[in-house]
Amino acid sequence: MPVLDCSVKPCVHNKDNKCSLDSIKVEGKNADYSDDTACGSYVLRASEQMTNACGKEPKTTLKVACSATKCVFNEGNMCKAEHIGIAGGHAGTMDETECASFVCKDCK
Ligand code: SF4
Repeated sequence: MPVLDCSVKPCVHNKDNKCSLDSIKVEGKNADYSDDTACGSYVLRASEQMTNACGKEPKTTLKVACSATKCVFNEGNMCKAEHIGIAGGHAGTMDETECASFVCKDCK
C-alpha cells in the first residue's frame, strides 16, 4: 500500500496533510496527465471546524483503488507505487484535486 501525502486541506478527510480514510479511489480512466486524475473520495468540508478525522489518527499508508490505467503504477486498478501525493490545496470540487504522482506509461 502506498504511503500517501495529501495537500487537499478543504477535504473533510484531511488531517495534517494525511488522509483519515482506510482506502481511497483515484479517478482518471482516460488520463494522460496528472491533471486528468482526481481523488474520488474527496468531500468538501462544510466549515473550517468540521472534520471527519475527529479522534482518528490519519493514515500513513492506505489502499488506493485507481481507474487511471495508463499510469505506470497501476496494476489491476490498484496503485502499486510506494509513495504518492494527492494535490489540490484549494480544491472546492473533486475535479480540482489530482494524483500528482501519475506517470503515463506510453504517452508521448
Ligand atoms: S500514482 Fe498512478 S496508479 Fe497510483 S493513484 Fe496516482 S494515478 Fe493512480
